[in-house]
Amino acid sequence: MQRRQIVKGLAASSLLLAAGGVSAPLWATSDTSLDVIIIGAGLAGLTSAEYLKNLGYKVLLLEARDRVGGRILSLNTQPNSPEAGALQIGQGYGMMRTFAQRLGLPLVPLGNYATQNIFVINGQRIQAADWPTHGSNHLPEADKHTLPSSLYFQALGKGPQYALPSDWASEKYAHLDIPLRQYFKQQNLSDEALRLIDSNLNALSLQGLSAADAFYRLSLARIGGRGAHRIEGGNSRFTQALASNLQGVINTKKVVSRINHGGEKVIVGCEDGSEYRAKRTIITTPFSTLKDVELTGGIRAFKHRAINEAVYTPVTQVHFAVKKQADVAALEATNLWTDNALGRVFSQMNNKGQLTYLTSWVNGKQAQALDNLSAKDAIATVSAALAKYCPALKGKVEVVHHQSWSSERFSKGAYIQFAPGQVQTLVPHMACIEGRLHFAGEHTEFMYSGMESAIVSGLRAAQEVTERL
Ligand SMILES: Cc1cc2nc3c(=O)[nH]c(=O)nc-3n(C[C@H](O)[C@H](O)[C@H](O)COP(=O)(O)OP(=O)(O)OC[C@H]3O[C@@H](n4cnc5c(N)ncnc54)[C@H](O)[C@@H]3O)c2cc1C
Repeated sequence: MQRRQIVKGLAASSLLLAAGGVSAPLWATSDTSLDVIIIGAGLAGLTSAEYLKNLGYKVLLLEARDRVGGRILSLNTQPNSPEAGALQIGQGYGMMRTFAQRLGLPLVPLGNYATQNIFVINGQRIQAADWPTHGSNHLPEADKHTLPSSLYFQALGKGPQYALPSDWASEKYAHLDIPLRQYFKQQNLSDEALRLIDSNLNALSLQGLSAADAFYRLSLARIGGRGAHRIEGGNSRFTQALASNLQGVINTKKVVSRINHGGEKVIVGCEDGSEYRAKRTIITTPFSTLKDVELTGGIRAFKHRAINEAVYTPVTQVHFAVKKQADVAALEATNLWTDNALGRVFSQMNNKGQLTYLTSWVNGKQAQALDNLSAKDAIATVSAALAKYCPALKGKVEVVHHQSWSSERFSKGAYIQFAPGQVQTLVPHMACIEGRLHFAGEHTEFMYSGMESAIVSGLRAAQEVTERL
């Protein structure tokens, strides 16, 4: 009781964030057994671990990969460390920004991306200005002037607006927990508009995404969920800096395969045969991977459903570097928005306007189709499409990275999305405590998006634990 009060007092103090380290109280070191096991060294797990360690708790962090950071992955072998995972630190990301300042990591603009857009629709390369009258534009008259990339937001923008993002799971909006495709059909969107929207949807598919989820994401964007910054030198520096404050706490290459929380202690077993016990456990792994872990000791039915049925958005990327700058100096850097396997291509330039780096970013069903191929064939498919629609680049770029987030065993997708019916049934159960088990990660926090959700969830779960130890 006394310890709990001390801990809560410390937790309430802003000293923790500002100082970035509070030395362990003496009473903590006399106890040799673990207080908390944290599973997963992504942003959520690292944040929980740092918070609890700084309060003097005995913490162990188990991470399956040989690196920390999870879905934050900067490609440090490339100039400017491009991101294969989380990119944008939004204007509204108060926690991320405060932590970055405390860790001494400057924020910089995202990069010098091309502003010009070319569309590739029905096999034709089209300038934005030509789109309204182009022969490949099969949209109905009323939509002919809308660019393919704007159809989605134009259609959503006519719909309801939540006062708060958390309204999405309220009874008032239960009627929106239907396939987004069905909702758009009710709004009389044409089949061609639906096809174009589906080809680059930031979700599995229009059929597989709840309309309530789509409006939720829009409301997050409206309150500043996205923005134009990243960490100088790559976002991985952020998780690496957090990890460097956790020496002796993080164990990598520890694939958790079973968790039993039925007894006095939680028992966590790993594939290598090692076993750990603690009073409480914080699970930060995506539910897509948690469903491979044997969970015993009692979990309520809705949580079971959430773990087993959670849907993660497929995202696959191919990264290209320019081989010899002199070869492409005359080329105008261009972003592409396609309805084919190339997805969207984001082009980065140097200060002279020369093209330096391209990322083909493929979502949803097109990403799944690429993932069904071998990595070699997926790269060949995307490279052939790039050569076809940007013939001037043929032989002048080289593939430097292929990233399939769905094929990564410890991610199985890029981010959570909710299928029709799941917003009402599963969202309320994502973060619920089950006995001695606490849940954190981007999939458990719904007032923010992406990295900010992860960090806020890590702090929330850590506080849940301090209230119970
Ligand atoms: C392509 C892409 C683009 C994105 N863009 C943005 C963006 O622009 N802005 C934004 O805010 N967010 C973005 N995100 C989302 C952001 O990356 C995540 O929300 C955030 O990093 C999630 O952190 P987390 O700690 O919840 O999960 P993770 O980072 O997934 O951490 C979970 C950890 O658990 C580990 N793990 C899994 N299974 C096991 C196991 N059995 N045993 C032990 N460990 C295990 C994993 O290896 C991982 O390290 C993007 C993500 C992707 C993939």
